[in-house]
Amino acid sequence: MKIFFDRLFREKVTIEKMIRLYCNKIHSTNGELCNECTELLNYALQRVDNCPFSDEKPVCNKCPIHCYKKEMREKVRTVMRFSGPKMLFHHPILAILHIMDKGRKVPEIKTKIKGTETVSKFN
Ligand SMILES: [Zn+2]
Repeated sequence: MKIFFDRLFREKVTIEKMIRLYCNKIHSTNGELCNECTELLNYALQRVDNCPFSDEKPVCNKCPIHCYKKEMREKVRTVMRFSGPKMLFHHPILAILHIMDKGRKVPEIKTKIKGTETVSKFN
């Protein structure tokens, strides 16, 4: 199964499930996502695609790069607060894999700050 060995794919599946749980419950949608949540999901998937860590991606709340714009970060936080604790029940395999991903070391990254390249060490 792809979720076991493809880190970014797993991340995408997890965020999709979390948004779906949230939307179905809070926005009373049934299986489908409302427009707002569809927008959030598309945004989140795009962020994962652009993640510079690629396969070494740490879990988002431990990530030193804040790649979400403020408004979207607030939204995704609300979703995670709601769906996070429910994942173990609804999607136990994903939840367990996510717990394991939390144990990942945040990799050393090269950041470009205003044209000068600096090597930053996080964690
Ligand atoms: Zn929704």
